[in-house]
Parts: sequence; C-alpha cells; structure tokens
Amino acid sequence: MKAVTFQGLHQPLAFESLPDPEPAADQLVVKIGRCGICGSDLHMTEDPAYGCQHGDVLGHEFAGEVVSTGREVTNLKTGDLVSVMPLASCGACEACRKGEVAWCANFRLQGGGYAEYALTRPNQCVPLPSGLSLADGAIIEPLAVALHGVNLSGLKAGDSVLVLGAGPIGLAVAFWARRLGAAKVAMQDVAEFQRERATDMGADVFVVDPQDPVGSAERALGGKADIVFECAGIPGLIAQAVQQVRPRGTILLLGLCTKPDTFNSFAMLSKEVRLVTSAFFTRDEYVATLAALEAGAAEPRLLVTETISLADTPDVFETLKRRTGQCKVLIAP
Ligand SMILES: [Zn+2]
Ligand SMILES: [Zn+2]
Repeated sequence: MKAVTFQGLHQPLAFESLPDPEPAADQLVVKIGRCGICGSDLHMTEDPAYGCQHGDVLGHEFAGEVVSTGREVTNLKTGDLVSVMPLASCGACEACRKGEVAWCANFRLQGGGYAEYALTRPNQCVPLPSGLSLADGAIIEPLAVALHGVNLSGLKAGDSVLVLGAGPIGLAVAFWARRLGAAKVAMQDVAEFQRERATDMGADVFVVDPQDPVGSAERALGGKADIVFECAGIPGLIAQAVQQVRPRGTILLLGLCTKPDTFNSFAMLSKEVRLVTSAFFTRDEYVATLAALEAGAAEPRLLVTETISLADTPDVFETLKRRTGQCKVLIAP
C-alpha cells in the first residue's frame, strides 16, 4: 500500500510503499476514506516530546471501510463504514469498560491514517450511519476532543465563554459552547483569517488585538469570562487567561504546550481560579459527537478547508507548519 511516513525530526514526511497490513485474530483492516491532519501531528514532527520513530505513519483522525477482519471479530464485517476512535486500549479493564479508554494502563494513541489501509480493533470502531460521509467520520475525533474539554469545564447555560486560539479545536469549542447554551462566546486570536469561520461555528465576536488582548476581550464580552478555554498551547496564555477570567471562574487547557510556562500563582489564587486540563475524550463523547452530526449539526463541516491526495501530503504538511489560512485539511488516500 501507499503510505506517508515519519523520517525524523524537522524533516519532511515521505510518500512510500509499505506492505499491506494483515489483521491478527482480534484486529481488522480499514481502507482509509478520509484522514484529518491534526495540529498535534505537526508538533510530532518537530518536537521530541512525542517520541515519533522513523517509519511511523501518523494520522489519528480517520474513517473508512472495513476490508478484512480477524477470525475473532464478530461485530463488524467487510463493507461496513466506520469512524475509528484512535484510542487503543486493552478493552477489558475498568477504565475500558466505562469507556474512559484514555485511562487504560495499556492506552496508546493509534496512528496509521496517512495510508491506504490501517489496522485497528473492533472496540475502536463506531459504525457510520448512512447520512454521514467519510469526511464526517474523520472530523469526529477533533470535535470529541473539544466536547471533552467543554464537559470538563462545567459549562452551564448562560455562561460567558472566551476561546483563545481559532484553530480547529478552538473553533470546535465555540461550536459546542454555543450548542450547550453559552450566553456569549468570544474568540480571540492573533490573526484575522478565521474570523468568518469563527462566527459561522458559533462565536458571537472575534477579537484580534495583540496590543491589548485582555482589554479588548473584556470589552467584546462585556466583562470577564466565566470560562476561558486555552486552545493555542502557547506559553504566556495561562497568565493571560488568569487576567481574562472572572473571580472563581474556570480556565480549561486544551492547547498542547510542551514548553515550560510561567504564571503568577498569587494572581490565580487571589481569584480562586479553577485550572482544569483536558486530554482526549470518552467513548460516550465520541458517540455523542457522531449523534450531533447525524442530528443535523452542519457547522463542523465548515472546519474542512481542503481535501488532498496521499502523494501531496508531504508537501502540504510542510506548508501547514507555517501558520496558513487552512483549517482542517483532510487526506483522501
Ligand atoms: Zn488530533
Ligand atoms: Zn483497559
């Protein structure tokens, strides 16, 4: 099969041929229909913290068609269309039984989506209903990441929300915050290019003011936020969020930042700010995301700005490392 592989830190990905995968007894093979390029994939090729190895196939946001199954797989058959939860786990422990698979002792993030075929396990596959496309199946993962953050934030109807960073996760947070009853959603970024998409996704206001981010967000929101979602992963933004949240409000961290960050804990403590972190999602949240799309939520499709071939992936991937006007790019192998 054709696949795109990791070559080394700071090097372009390579388009090459790999052996076709053969499923073990408890595995199945999915023919990839669509796979999203995630911001964390970009970080993985630049930052040793992620531990990428030569030859790894990235890509954890994918959906496709089941093309072969191991002999122990009974609940899925060839031809089924599935969205793949990229959370590989033992499937038997208490965390797995509760659907909190990211907290399984054997958890790992499964990649493999930048290829024609990928191996996975049946407990990671969620059948795609007939009304949803393979592209829909590929955007469930980032939407579920955002839903998990919104759920952990304790957002209530009527809350005012500030989202820092208008990448796919920030935009998805705006979507969920709006849908779950936030009274006002402001989104803040250092660049203009997602302004229209942000309002289409559910933001009431989009603020770009690198000179005075605190004052401008406060004016846009009519006060300090009940909840600030940090969705950029840039050092300094926690300290900024402390100034932007109301006393006893919540800062929810979704942005991946592998660099040390500093903030003044006195400034945080004197407001009794709640600082909450969020990683991955539960199975229920993945299924709820799919259900929202099936129920007709159309805004998330606006995240997708381009669909590319596998052969073009290494070049496009390089351009995405510099911040571009793109939002979610999907690969159609
Ligand atoms: Zn991702
Ligand atoms: Zn487990």
